Order: sequence, then structure tokens, then C-alpha cells
Amino acid sequence: MPLLRLSASFLLALVTVVSGFAANRDDRPNILLIVADDLGYNDVGFQGARDILTPNLDRLAASGVRCTDGYVSYSVCSPSRAGFLTGRYQQRFGHEFNPKWDATSTTHGLPLSQTTIADGLRAAGYTTGLVGKWHQGAHPQFHPNRRGFDEFFGFLGGGHRYLPDSHAEVEVAAGKKGNTADAEHNAPLLRNATVVPEEGELTTRLGQEATASVMRHAHDAKPWFLYFAFNAPHNPLEARPDMLKKFAGIADERRRTYAAMVATLDESIGRVLAALESTGQRERTLIFFFSDNGGPMTKRNANTSVNTPLRGQKGDVFEGGIRVPFLVSWPGKIPAGGTYSQPVISLDVLPTALAAARTKRDAKLPALDGVDLLPYLTGANKSAPHARLFWRMDGGEAFAVREGNWKWMRTYSNPPELYDLATDLAEKKNVVAAHPEVAARLAAASAEWNRGLAAPIFVNNPFGGLINRTGLEKSSAP
Ligand code: CA
Repeated sequence: MPLLRLSASFLLALVTVVSGFAANRDDRPNILLIVADDLGYNDVGFQGARDILTPNLDRLAASGVRCTDGYVSYSVCSPSRAGFLTGRYQQRFGHEFNPKWDATSTTHGLPLSQTTIADGLRAAGYTTGLVGKWHQGAHPQFHPNRRGFDEFFGFLGGGHRYLPDSHAEVEVAAGKKGNTADAEHNAPLLRNATVVPEEGELTTRLGQEATASVMRHAHDAKPWFLYFAFNAPHNPLEARPDMLKKFAGIADERRRTYAAMVATLDESIGRVLAALESTGQRERTLIFFFSDNGGPMTKRNANTSVNTPLRGQKGDVFEGGIRVPFLVSWPGKIPAGGTYSQPVISLDVLPTALAAARTKRDAKLPALDGVDLLPYLTGANKSAPHARLFWRMDGGEAFAVREGNWKWMRTYSNPPELYDLATDLAEKKNVVAAHPEVAARLAAASAEWNRGLAAPIFVNNPFGGLINRTGLEKSSAP
């Protein structure tokens, strides 16, 4: 019966192949987007910090590419996050201020006309999750579960107290009448729509939740997308006592607390990296890390962050407001341990993620402003990802353009500024007079870009009341 034996073994082989194929995991990568909040440019080890230890972030940097000229699209929280969540300059759809904390407002939040990175990846078959800060509207219509996220653990506002028994008084303490930050920072933690008790220090808790998510989906057939959105090290300055002890050598109490908060953030990222490694997922996970804006160094909400060698801070279009620590890591796909110095922007995350997920954006949706960074980071494409990058603040009170090494700015009532970042990273020497043709070209480019933008659809005290500068009061009404 050789024929029968052959047939039986053939069938067995066929069954093995077919069942093996069916059991095969989707080979597209997981995507992990880690965002810090108000982190200074120079406050992590891989950027040069000496007093704050971030061994896990440094390890992440060594596993991928550090983008030296990595930008965000706005220099305060919510508009910046609206930008990378949609892959579009958020001024195109009027999201140019932090939303007010108001669960009855159907206006103050990421417009429902926009689709998110989570919408796109979920449509492509990914399991999608958010752990941490939302800040894209408090009304139920803006809830993460309605904006593409299958799973949500975190809080809806722009910040949250860190210690359950604290009473975070951020802007109320600074005497701003009518500011709702206190209520916002004390709003409940949620798992999807369900209130959960507060237990332990928040950044630690978020790390536990993100780790649990990575473990829970480790053996799924589907890949996953996780947006791990810290509120640390944003105010209020609160940290775990044991972590504070590690930084006893820092004399200034506020900087000591800030250092402990950054180290706790690093510890939580380390937990997630360890979970990826222990479950064999690290090689098939594309990771992004950056801060949503520069550190607020001296002004309201200052957290003792340090942006040196950059000029400026949160709320500015100087480099210190918009250039941030920025990492991309995908072992085996993106070279390890290098730096990439062409300008890139957080808006690139969404198209890069869609490309890695081998999915195309619905052609009916509005065009993206970001680009797929993978060919650039692998070296396949040697040209610059962006001819120019643009910024606008407060509905038109300030503008900036980056083109090559040129940085042009027009802010408030100040005369135009032009800096050569190749020789003047600290933006100290305005060279408009020496290069009037460059200044004119970039002014025209800014004006042209501005014509494609919308007026703000909601206005709230700019910068969360961070900065008091000429022209702001006008745009803060009503
Ligand atoms: Ca922020």
C-alpha cells in the first residue's frame, strides 16, 4: 500500500502546513508610541543629562536612532498631541489651544472630523490601546474609546496628581481665578469608562498598566498599537519617597523631585521593555519616544527642566519649545546606536506606523503632513524627509519655519528673526540683515502655509496661563 502511505503522509504534511500557516502570527510589527510631558531637552541621559539617570531610555536610544533634530508641531500639550495623533498640522482643523476642562463642551477637543492613528491601525487589524494622558477633550464624544482605542486606562485631562493622598494644586495655587486645573488634576482614573481606585504613585501605575497590556497581547495573532502617554514630568512636582532618596544629592528640592519623576518614568519604560523582551516581542515592535513639548524652565508651570543648549521653553517657537528628545527603535530594521540629523517631526509617526503596518490611508481622508520615516532612518533614502517644517502659535501670534539649517521666526510684536542653526544652535545671532533673501523666502513660505490653516475652533487661556506676553490677552478671549 505504498500509494496510501504516500497519500497519508502527504495529507499529514498538508495539514501541518495549513494549520501551521493558520496559527502563524501576523508578521506586522507592534507599534509602541511613548510620549513624555514637558520633559527638558537635556534631562535624559542620552541627551547629556548628568544629574538624572535614565538607563532604560539610554538603552532604548542605543537600540535605535536618536533624532537630534526631532520636533513636535506645537509647544504645549494638547495641540502637540492632536498633531501626532492625526499626522496633520493641528491648525489645519482648528486645534490650536489646550481645551478647557469641561465635560459638557462638544467643541473643546479633537474635532470628530479627524481620524486618529488608532483609527487607522485598528482598521488595519491592530488591537489599539492608550495608557495615560488623553487631553483631547473631556466630553464623552471625545473619549479615547470613541477615537480608535479599543482599550483605555488613564485620565481624560491634561494632567493628574501623582500621589493618591495629595491634593494637586497647580494653577489654582498660582492664583488664576476660574482656572479648573485643580479639578482636572483630581479627576478620576478610568479603565475605559469605569472609574477605578487610585493606588500608588501614578507614573509607576501607568508603567504597570502598559506592562500588563504588552503581556496580555503577547501571544495574540493580531499585532497591537499602544500609545503610552505619560503626564510626567509635568507639574505638580510629586514623586515616590524611595525615588526621592536616590536623588538626595540634588540640593534643590524641586529639581530633586523632578529628577525622581523622570527616573520613575524611565523605570516604567524599563518595565515595558523588559516585558517585550521576556515575551519575545522586542524584535517585532517599532518604538517611538519623544516629549510633547520642551521643558517649562522658568515660567508658570515651571518644573525645573533644562533645555540647554537650546534657547527658549514650552510655549515658544524657539528651539527649546519645539525640539525634543526623539528616539525611533526597531531592532533589525533600523540601525542601532546611531543619530539622524535631518529635521523630523512627531507628525511623521502616523505615516511611519501605517507604512510599518503595510496599510494605506483611506484616499478620501485629508492629506497627511508627516512622512514615512523608515526609508530615511534605514539610509535607503539619503535626502531630507521635509523641505520645510512650520509652526504657528495662538491663531497667528507667532510663526516659525525650519528649512535646512535656517530657522525663521516672527513672534508677537517682535521684528522677524533668522538663525543659522548650523553655527548658532542657541539662536542668539539674528542674521536677517545679512540674509534678507532667505528671510523673505521663508516669510513667504510661512504665509503660504498659513493660508491652508483654519482659525482656532476653540480658545482657552493660552499655554494654560503659562506665559504672559504681548498679544496673548487678545487671543485668550473669550
Ligand atoms: Ca506638555
